[in-house]
Amino acid sequence: MEMIQISNIREKEKRENSSRLPAVNWHLEAYCNYGCKFCYAPLREQREKERISKDEGFIILHSIADYGVEKINFVGGEPMLNPYIDDWIIEAKELGLVTSIVSNGTKMTEEWLLRMSPYLDWLGLSIDASNDEIHTRIGRGRIGEIRDNKSSHLKRCLEISRFAKKIGYGLKLNTVVCSENIFDDMSELVSDMQPNRWKLFKVLPISGENDGLVDSMLITDLQFQNYVNRHRDKLSNQKIIQIVSEDNDEMLGTYAMIDPQGLVYTNLNGNYSYSQDSILKVGFSNAWAQVEDGFSNEGFNERGGFWSWKKDSEQKLNLPVFRGEIIG
Ligand code: SF4
Repeated sequence: MEMIQISNIREKEKRENSSRLPAVNWHLEAYCNYGCKFCYAPLREQREKERISKDEGFIILHSIADYGVEKINFVGGEPMLNPYIDDWIIEAKELGLVTSIVSNGTKMTEEWLLRMSPYLDWLGLSIDASNDEIHTRIGRGRIGEIRDNKSSHLKRCLEISRFAKKIGYGLKLNTVVCSENIFDDMSELVSDMQPNRWKLFKVLPISGENDGLVDSMLITDLQFQNYVNRHRDKLSNQKIIQIVSEDNDEMLGTYAMIDPQGLVYTNLNGNYSYSQDSILKVGFSNAWAQVEDGFSNEGFNERGGFWSWKKDSEQKLNLPVFRGEIIG
């Protein structure tokens, strides 16, 4: 009887916490093999530190799940460069979390997508333009490619997205709107890709992270709004694609983030504010309490942070797989 009461209390706490913080972004990997000039997650200091172990990553995931967070987004740097990414996605799913990754796609293979499909609900790809010439100017390509003044980013992502859709992943597309792509037309590309959700971000300056590099790429609110409206109009017949736009104000103070070492952080004032202690030392609940003033649940809801990730993830196609080949 007592056991049932304790578990009821824990469930109630979970529900209350989950309404306070439904989703977190874990920037689990500091390194990236791309050279995007506007990158606001270069994680320079974290690159100097040793990666946490696989087991330490499990502790972070358990702590998040215990707090009642519903969805985890694995991001970076480039999350696929971390040697434990597969283990952590699987563990998160087994803990009952909705799982999502945002990647530049370079390390994703069909084999990986097939193997991870029971555990990973959402695949997010970052594509900023309808052609790789613009990607080259942005720096959205392998560092070596960008050095040679080229990028194969779009070609790679299209192959991945087609295969991922075919095997039932929920597909998210992220686009950063900046001075290099404000006049680009992504509507045909987006109609072809058919993502479930397309997020448009106004390029974001973060003090201490992308100062100087981002300056020439900044745009006005009006330029951003024109880009968003133009694409909304052109895609108005595409009912399946949910288009969400975030200007700088909407992006500030509405993300709960974890760094590669397990520190929790927010970005309310245009710079990163980190918890003093890591989740590994004090647990997520205590680490989050150190920075949660920098997070607005209202702002999170207003920017559409809470969306039907569960419902959609349960509508996966789940095509039968036979010896690595898809039937149907
Ligand atoms: S792919 Fe992402 S993490 Fe890597 S440089 Fe570009 S924006 Fe930054």
